[in-house]
Amino acid sequence: MLYIYNTLSRVKQPFKPLHEGRVGMYVCGPTVYGDAHLGHARPAITFDILFRYLTHLGYKVRYVRNITDVGHLEHDADSGEDKIAKKARLEQLEPMEVVQYFLNRYHHDMEALNVLPPSIEPHASGHIIEQIEYVKKILESGYAYESKGSVYFDVAKYNKDHNYGKLSGRNIEDLLSTTRELDGQDEKHNPLDFALWKKAAPEHIMHWPSPWSEGFPGWHLECSTMGEKYLGEEFDIHGGGMDLMFPHHECEIAQSVAAKGHDTVRYWMHNNMITIAGKKMGKSYNNFITLEQFFKGEHPLLSRPYSPMVIRFFILQAHYRSTVDFSDAALEAADKALQKMLDGYRRLQALVPAEKSSVELPDFAAKCYEAMDDDLNTPMVIAELFDACRYINQASDGLITLDAADIDKLKDLFKTFLIDLLGIRVDNAGADSNTAQTKAFEGAVDLLMDVRKNAKAAKDWATSDFIRDRLAALGFDVKDTKNGVEWKIKSN
Ligand code: ZN
Repeated sequence: MLYIYNTLSRVKQPFKPLHEGRVGMYVCGPTVYGDAHLGHARPAITFDILFRYLTHLGYKVRYVRNITDVGHLEHDADSGEDKIAKKARLEQLEPMEVVQYFLNRYHHDMEALNVLPPSIEPHASGHIIEQIEYVKKILESGYAYESKGSVYFDVAKYNKDHNYGKLSGRNIEDLLSTTRELDGQDEKHNPLDFALWKKAAPEHIMHWPSPWSEGFPGWHLECSTMGEKYLGEEFDIHGGGMDLMFPHHECEIAQSVAAKGHDTVRYWMHNNMITIAGKKMGKSYNNFITLEQFFKGEHPLLSRPYSPMVIRFFILQAHYRSTVDFSDAALEAADKALQKMLDGYRRLQALVPAEKSSVELPDFAAKCYEAMDDDLNTPMVIAELFDACRYINQASDGLITLDAADIDKLKDLFKTFLIDLLGIRVDNAGADSNTAQTKAFEGAVDLLMDVRKNAKAAKDWATSDFIRDRLAALGFDVKDTKNGVEWKIKSN
């Protein structure tokens, strides 16, 4: 039985979907006005694991991850302009060109990280009519008001009848005393009120007609609207990064309760944040490292490139609810660990079964399922796989024997947990060259191994040693094992 930690109830709960055999999940996707960085990778990978696991358990999963391409209220501090619109103006592009450009790059990064595409990827800009209808419903319920062409959510009024702050655990009185003055303050009854619809300033290039003004929807509204449109008035899981818990998700709850009279989401899930060398990622720290910079090693904080699988493995080595601190040294360690795991995987493929197993293998699969069922405990799954690698290495070194059934069990274990659920690519992982090149290269080295084997069989020691020594000089580690010859490139 899968248990997941529900941010709303603050306990791990057994997961029971609303509809037998089907799961609806919604995750807040990227705002597309810049390249994806680590802050994008963690939620994408966290919910990719959940998506993969639920699918593996036999559920038909509808996974919706939105694209925020309008109405993002996190305006540029200097000009008060929407960031996509500003970029479009500066570079003389149509705003949708900016969106498409960064969306293509985002997809490319996600594919590199082996993050599966969601079932539906709706754009906020494609759901303006639905969002206007949603605003109307909140106005009808009395929890919103119109002011100078904009529509605001009445937080104080809502809080009298319902509990604003129940997800993040914030107290509205505290909030009132700490909230600073905001843009458009004079239009609001209260600084905590948030925009459902915003009248566009004349220079604002992304705007649509509405009953209130030519304008654009508030950011929080798109998720309430598209979640309901694609998953229904009540659905199973809503996820996102912890930084979205307040105000974004809190506002989503308030909107749906105001419009529908009830909560929409049954399980709220939040991944923790990533820090870089102990610091929050932020412009002022100059430590925003984009995924592409990681893949290419092009950043002063990086000593070399790191393959997407190393980034993925690094993130999965921590539980999604704990913090992760990125540093060059930590990535180096993750790379070593991943290579060790992949070595184990390759040696497993080459194992020759013995008549009888000389040891009794622990039930690794049961332990891995137990770990996944415990709120997606990926570090525990990785620990179990490393334990399995110990047995594989011992068998490969001739210290123990494993029969065919045990070897098949181990192969199933790695296929299910390493490849299918953790989503680690085992072919070409860690290499930056393309697959065809790698295949040709590996084939050529294997060919040399065959020549050496034949030389040895013919007692031509000179040729056999020549090949071994020259390969060693090139950085190859050639090992004669019970199952034949193994080779790998020595890591420094
Ligand atoms: Zn959202």
